[in-house]
Formats: sequence, structure tokens, C-alpha cells
Amino acid sequence: MEYGFGTKAIHAGQEPDPTTGAIMTPIYQTSTYVQASPGNHKGYAYARGKNPTRTALEKNIAALEDAKHCLCFSSGMGAIDAIAKLLRPGDEVITGDDLYGGSYRMFTKIFEPFGIKFHFIDMKDANNIKNFINKNTKLVWLETPTNPTMQIIDIVAAAKIAKEHNLMIAVDNTFASPYLQNPLALGADIVMHSVTKYLGGHSDVVMGALCLNDDAIYEKLAFIHNSCGATPGPMDSFLVIRGLKTLHVRMERHCYNGKIIAEYLRSHPKVEKIYWPGFTDHPNHEIAKKQMRDFGGMISIVIKGTREDAFKVAQSLKVFSLAESLGGVESLINHPATMTHASIPKDERERVGVVDNLLRLSVGIENVEDLLEDLKQALA
Ligand SMILES: *Cc1c(COP(=O)(O)O)cnc(C)c1O
Repeated sequence: MEYGFGTKAIHAGQEPDPTTGAIMTPIYQTSTYVQASPGNHKGYAYARGKNPTRTALEKNIAALEDAKHCLCFSSGMGAIDAIAKLLRPGDEVITGDDLYGGSYRMFTKIFEPFGIKFHFIDMKDANNIKNFINKNTKLVWLETPTNPTMQIIDIVAAAKIAKEHNLMIAVDNTFASPYLQNPLALGADIVMHSVTKYLGGHSDVVMGALCLNDDAIYEKLAFIHNSCGATPGPMDSFLVIRGLKTLHVRMERHCYNGKIIAEYLRSHPKVEKIYWPGFTDHPNHEIAKKQMRDFGGMISIVIKGTREDAFKVAQSLKVFSLAESLGGVESLINHPATMTHASIPKDERERVGVVDNLLRLSVGIENVEDLLEDLKQALA
């Protein structure tokens, strides 16, 4: 019998330590491993390549995405960088027009100068991908739900188009986490996570991960992983192993609190617009229902008035902290235009709805009554 998600989150990849029986995976704080004779080691030669704490973590994340392979990186961006390094000059990528700011920055500022072309397109109707495919297209890169306007992209439809044209398709699953969505099961080739967010869950680690089933792509990525060296240390790996043991419990509460807060904000007179995929009138609500198990705790709102009105709300909150990032146990509020999405030109971000009076909430797992009270006083 296949174990349930929570059982896997706690046990997958975890064995009692063979020397002591320690139930928690030890933090193997070492850079190298002693060999009995040259080349004669136990699979571990040098810790950039492999570390047992990281191996235990990778097995766990792989189990949560039902993936054959997982590689952990020292950041989410390190993981995306490894995928981009599968490409060669002249190759083209089709990606969304509402991307994480750091992904946009890496694609345009780092990889475009190396001769890789990126098409940033509206993917709300996945069929639009077809309009940008040519003989140089190699990769479809998508995020869903998108950051920060919570668009939902149809992974099944996008993967079908990608397969018909022999393209690789990778999904940034950071916002959903494996608890809500498993892109490999929906046809994606690679799933990427900023482990920094929901997987770590406690705002104390920066890390990334890639999950996949294909052996040949895995070999290439593992080669890049070791050659380029954006690999995480054992202490951070341990912290994420610990964080993952409560992922299912945390996600349940993120979803519960998120729904109550989304409904409250929607009817608030100072809120001009709200983005949350759980609303039945969200443009792709039906797709969200199909590909996600619940709707999560990420919500964006447009405050009536100006940027200063939005700033005032963000600064008046007492339980929510004004900070970048998301997915931790504590509630955060962020002003994308000046914080997470500042690297995107103003006209481009405004075209997709990242206006100056937009705020993004990462609803934490505090008591929802306290969060509601806090929003009420800040919006008064
Ligand atoms: C944070 C984030 C990233 C980047 O991950 P880091 O761990 O910060 O490097 C990529 N994609 C999304 C959607 C993110 O939220």
C-alpha cells in the first residue's frame, strides 16, 4: 500500500542512524569522507557532490512529488539556474508573463546575453503557447499559481502541447507545494521548488529543489549540480527535514486561514480587487479545482487609492510582518512593486496587474481570529 502524504512527509528517506539508532538524521557536518583505498568509498567522496543529510532530504522531497529523483540546491534560483544551463545559445524558452521577479531577472539579465531567447507570454489559455513554438524552442517554463496575481495555468494542457512538440516542460511549484499540486503527475518533466518557502516552512533556510523521473535529464542536472556547485549544506538540509515533517499539518491550516481571510477581504470596502484561486469567479477556478487539492494561503489585494494607501495598510499591521518571502508559519505582507518584483520594468509589471497599490499576503498558521482582527484595524 502506498503511504499517505503525511506519513511520507515524516518517514520517507529517513532511517534510524546505523551507529546509534538516532531517530533523526544526523547533521553530517563534513566536507570529505575517508576512503579505504583510492576510489574505494561508500558512495560519498566529497560533500559538494553528496552528503548523507542532503541525501535523506532529497529522498523525502522526491517521495512528496512522487518523483524518482530529487536534487537539492543552495537556493531556488540555484535550481532554476541548473535548468537554464541545459540550454544552448540559439535555444528559445516559452514562459509566463507573471513570473517570480528573480526568475525574470535571471532569464533576461543572465541568460539572454548568452544568446537564449525568452518569450514572456500570457498562459492563462495554455493554447497561446502554440503561437510561440518554432524550431529553436526547447523549454516551456511555467509557474502556477503565479506570483503575485494568482493566475492559474493549466498544467495538463501545457504539458500536452509541450509533448506534441518534443519540448521539455518545467513547473515552478513553489506556491502550491507538493501538498496541493504534483506537476509530474500532470505531465511535467521537471518540478522546481523554492524550498525556502512552504517546504522549509519556518523562514530559517534558503534552499531549492528539482524533482523529476527522466533518468537522462537527471544525469545532466546532477552533472551541473556537482560541476557548478550550488549545493546546500548539511545543517540547512537538516532544518528542512525537520520542517517537512509538519508540511501537511501546516498546509491544512494555511488553506483554512487563507479561505477565511480571502472571504473577509473580498467584501471589505477598502479592497478594490482580490486575487485568490478559491473564488468560484476566479477566471481559471475550474482548472485550479482540477489540478490542486485546495487553494492555499497566498492572496493578493489591490487597496483602493494610491501606493501610499497600500503602504499605510502594510505598515499598520501588527501580526502580519512586512517582509519578502512566503510560506512560513508567520503571516507576511509584501509590496511587490517595490519589493519582490522591483526588478521588473514598471510598464511590464503593470500590464499583468502588479500595480503600485497591490499587496501580497502570505497567510500564516496563527489563530485566524487574530489575523482577521489585525487586518480589520489596519484597513480601518
Ligand atoms: C522565492 C521564489 C523563487 C526563488 O527561490 P529562492 O529560494 O529565493 O532562491 C522562485 N520561484 C518562486 C515562485 C519563489 O517564490
